[in-house]
Formats: sequence, structure tokens, C-alpha cells
Amino acid sequence: MRRHGRALAVALAAGLVALSGARPQAYLKLGYRVGDRSLSLEWTSFPVRYYVTDRDVPGVDADQFRDAVARAFDTWRQVPGAGASFEFVGFTSADPFEDDGMNVLGFENRPELERVLGATTYLVDTVTGDILESDIFFNSAFAWSVAPGGEAGKEDVQSIATHEIGHLLGLGHSALGETELRPDGSRRVIAAESVMFPIAYTAGSIESRTLKADDVAGVSDVYGAGGFRTETGSVSGRVTKNGRGVFGAHVVAFDLRRGTLVGNFSLDADGNFVIAGLEPGPHVLRVEPLDDGDLESYFDDPSRVDVDFGATFLDRLAVVPRGGSTPALTIAVRAK
Ligand SMILES: [Zn+2]
Repeated sequence: MRRHGRALAVALAAGLVALSGARPQAYLKLGYRVGDRSLSLEWTSFPVRYYVTDRDVPGVDADQFRDAVARAFDTWRQVPGAGASFEFVGFTSADPFEDDGMNVLGFENRPELERVLGATTYLVDTVTGDILESDIFFNSAFAWSVAPGGEAGKEDVQSIATHEIGHLLGLGHSALGETELRPDGSRRVIAAESVMFPIAYTAGSIESRTLKADDVAGVSDVYGAGGFRTETGSVSGRVTKNGRGVFGAHVVAFDLRRGTLVGNFSLDADGNFVIAGLEPGPHVLRVEPLDDGDLESYFDDPSRVDVDFGATFLDRLAVVPRGGSTPALTIAVRAK
């Protein structure tokens, strides 16, 4: 979901309609808990076939909307390590969010969701974690644009679609972004190293049309096509405080050769983390508390997240091997 600044409370990382039990299983991967197992939310086959609503809104007619959405789908299709593909089936008068077996993207006027630009919902097979259907709504209570270079004061359909399609593919939110508080309590994005950062850039920006290393690593990690597992590597380890595991710490790998960032979280009570999809070579690892923004954007049980520690670097370089993982690394943080 894409929000303007301070968010409205929702139970999950993505979507307005509750998918009970969903939780981020990894930085970007959404998971579904069945008993004591956590399954990755994912499509089992491509292409994903989708419909677009036949509604015009001011500034964007249905054909323009279809074309902007198609460009956003194509951005994800081009990630070689994912193998994702999509097929436009046709226009429909059905609303997004109906459980009708159709994947529908379209506008709806939801003025009561005053900070929500869009959201993605899923219908999931609760035994396997497979996605059966996914819908994306765009809130026509906002002003929208499909102008090639963006349009000041209007939300860019392609940028928001790119973020929401990341959810449709099974990705949660990434914390790789910086914001500042505005006087009205909302947040302005200064920079984001992921399209999957939960807060949208200021209206008019087209920044989120372009995937970052973090997005590419995430979607490739979910689907792992075309030699991805053999050509990339991962770092893994634990975040500890006073010898005990830290849950919900944000762990970031900085690729020294390429200057790219990929993030993840420690996702269990022992503080274990994995960051997959990294280019082989030396990385700087940094751990920081998830204290810039709303915890609800990342975790459905924010009370478990420990933010009481200072940012900490691993005291050496993590050298990522091709097709494998580093030995387990321990990063000890200290309470503030
Ligand atoms: Zn989102």
C-alpha cells in the first residue's frame, strides 16, 4: 500500500482487506503462517492475467490507465532473476477487491482513506501460500496523471502501480528510505532506495517508476529464476543485544563495488536474518532500529519489534560468495 505520510492503521504490510495471519517473512517477501510454518506468498505460474477497469477519472482515461499499468508490469517483467510475466486480458466493469477470480486494477473513489493512494489485496490458498487472485485499487479521491515526465501536484499512475505490483508479486515493504516530518505530522520522502518503501514521494515525482537493487533482489528471491540462485549470494546471521536475539532489526547490506543497498529484517526471537539476492563481493553490514516511520507498515505485531538500540556496523566486511551464503555473522547492538 502507498500512503501519504502518517498512516492509517491497517493490519498488514499490504492491503486493506485483511489477509489474516499474513506477515512479512523477509524484507520484501510476504509470508502466510499456517500452523507453525511460514509460507512465502507467491504465484505458481506466469503469466499473471489481469483486467483493468473501464472507468475514466479526471486527467486519466481508461486507455491511458491501461497503458501506464502495462508499463509498470513491464518494469517487473524485465527483472531477469524473477521470470515474471503478465498478460492484459481486457477491460472490466468489475470493482477491484471483489473475490471474483479476476485480477483487477482500477480506480475507486475512497475519500475516507485520506492518506491511502492505493492498495493491493490477495486471495490466498491457505494451505500452500499460493496467490489465487490479487486486486489493486487506486484512490481517485487524489489527482492522477500519466504525463511522461510527471505533473506537479498529481500522483503518477505508473509509479504507484509499480509499487503495488510489487505487492501483487508477494513483496512487503522495504525500510530503505529516509523521511522528514512535516509540520502537519505527515512525512515527506527525502530519498528511497526501494520502490517498496511504504511512503510515496511527493505528488508529481516519477522516481518510483524505476526499480532499485533492493526491489530486484526481493522479487528475484521470491521466484529465483534463470540462474539467480547460482549467480548471487546471501549474508546471514543474528542480531543480538545483551546476548539475546533482537526481533525486527533493520539490516542493510551495502555493496562496496556497486554502491547499492539491499535490506532485510531480523525475523525471529533469536534475531536471525538473511539477505539474499546479493551480488558476490564485499559488503558493509549495518543494523539500525526501525524507528523512521510506522512500524505497522512492516509488521502486523509491532509490539514485538525492538527499537531500543543504536545503529551498529559489523566490525569487518561481509564477503558474499557466488551461489552461497556467508558463515553466520553476529552483530551485537547496545541499548541506547
Ligand atoms: Zn505498499
